Amino acid sequence: MSVNFLYPEYEVERNTNRCIACRVCERQCANEVHRYDEDLQMMLADESKCVNCHRCVSLCPTRALKIVKTNHTFKESANWTKNNIEELYRQANSGGVLLTSMGNPCDYPVYWDKILINASQVTNPSIDPLREPMETRTYLGKKNVKIERDANGKLIPNLPVNLELTMPMLFGAMSYGAISYNAHESLARAAEALGIYYNTGEGGLHQDFYKYGPNTIVQVASGRFGVHKDYLESGAAIEIKIGQGAKPGIGGHLPGHKTMGDISRTRMIPEGSDAISPAPHHDIYSIEDLRQLVFSLKEATNYKKPVSVKIAAVHNIAAIASGIARSGADIIAIDGFRGGTGAAPTRIRDNVGIPIELALAAVDQRLRDEGIRDNVSIVVSGSIRNSADIVKAVALGADAVYLGTAALMALGCHLCRSCHTGKCNWGISTQRPELVKRLNPNIGSQRLINLMNAWNHEIKEMMGGMGINSIEALRGNRLMLRGVGLNEKELEILGIKHAGE
Ligand code: SF4
Ligand code: SF4
Repeated sequence: MSVNFLYPEYEVERNTNRCIACRVCERQCANEVHRYDEDLQMMLADESKCVNCHRCVSLCPTRALKIVKTNHTFKESANWTKNNIEELYRQANSGGVLLTSMGNPCDYPVYWDKILINASQVTNPSIDPLREPMETRTYLGKKNVKIERDANGKLIPNLPVNLELTMPMLFGAMSYGAISYNAHESLARAAEALGIYYNTGEGGLHQDFYKYGPNTIVQVASGRFGVHKDYLESGAAIEIKIGQGAKPGIGGHLPGHKTMGDISRTRMIPEGSDAISPAPHHDIYSIEDLRQLVFSLKEATNYKKPVSVKIAAVHNIAAIASGIARSGADIIAIDGFRGGTGAAPTRIRDNVGIPIELALAAVDQRLRDEGIRDNVSIVVSGSIRNSADIVKAVALGADAVYLGTAALMALGCHLCRSCHTGKCNWGISTQRPELVKRLNPNIGSQRLINLMNAWNHEIKEMMGGMGINSIEALRGNRLMLRGVGLNEKELEILGIKHAGE
């Protein structure tokens, strides 16, 4: 007899005085947690299927539902925690690799929360952003270091190709296939309205979204899904994806049952075939090889588009970034180990990579030391949660940040970490038509616009408080930061002083 050692992680608490048996929860739950029992004439719940996505809680008309974490316990120890025990049982049941989604939930230090921002007092007055101009406009790409004039003394227009952003934020790479058509449309429309960019991820660009090309970064990943001349030419920039924070060093896999219809057409692969992105690019084994791809893409697009190279934050990140800066790339995108994903092996997500804060500080310093910082822009990602994280990232040396998880949360994501099941009840990481239509792109794009505008306003307030009136003046300005509760080595890598110094 096989025994199930696992107890459901969540319990559904239904207030029977409030429940009117309207069956909304039953209809809304793609995990089939709720059902109406005709004999008992009441709603029942199979809690083993609950992922705590809160769809039923949010839509219950009488507020009859609560999902609570079970207080069932294993005999834990500091070593054998509940999580370790449950994961082991799960693998003993299945014999397979544990899969998960979204970012690393483990209890590693969050350096953003150990860094504090400065404010002006007395001698260096602060600036009121409501009364004085405050510039959050950001340019991504090589900086122009030389002014050239012709024989008549007229300026020769020799500016390198740059992306212009109205604020130092972009929507991170999320492929069509991993997220839904309506999620992509929401991101594309918000990027256009805000004057920023969204990123196709590695799944190609749906024909309907070519019109958003001026606000699109098109990705070229190891699987080369959906990559062709029109695709490259449609985007404002091209990004070569080498790695991703949630799963550094491994490839990706979109199962055959998800590569149907428009997704197979957009990816240019047969319906029902597994979309497997190899771990490496099979034409890149050195910085010289990377340089060849960077220049092939520039050549293919007539040197009109900046080329970004996206990597995961790993050991030796500074040396890797230095190589990328010398490869001819215009932007380095670095994804920290808390970066989200539609699907990743749990063990990789939770144990591989390094925090983005340390990676960013190390890369910015290395590029400055080598005198090549102006050759590239740095965009960072990997769990940016609010506008203060962005200010800290810019002061540590970033030009801008990619927002993935935060953008999905604006669309309604409740961080249930079950995107890989394809049953997202909020219509975001699913391709099931009845679920996709739950996300209305009119509402989704407006919520993204609201969030970005709110954060941009807060960034201006924090900059004003420091007496700084432009992102350019904040970039790499580590004097504006102080650490709390950090050791000497951490402060050294971050390049900041301790609070009180
Ligand atoms: S949605 Fe609320 S009121 Fe309706 S059946 Fe479910 S618990 Fe009861
Ligand atoms: S996108 Fe959907 S499935 Fe993924 S974590 Fe968010 S709510 Fe859950």
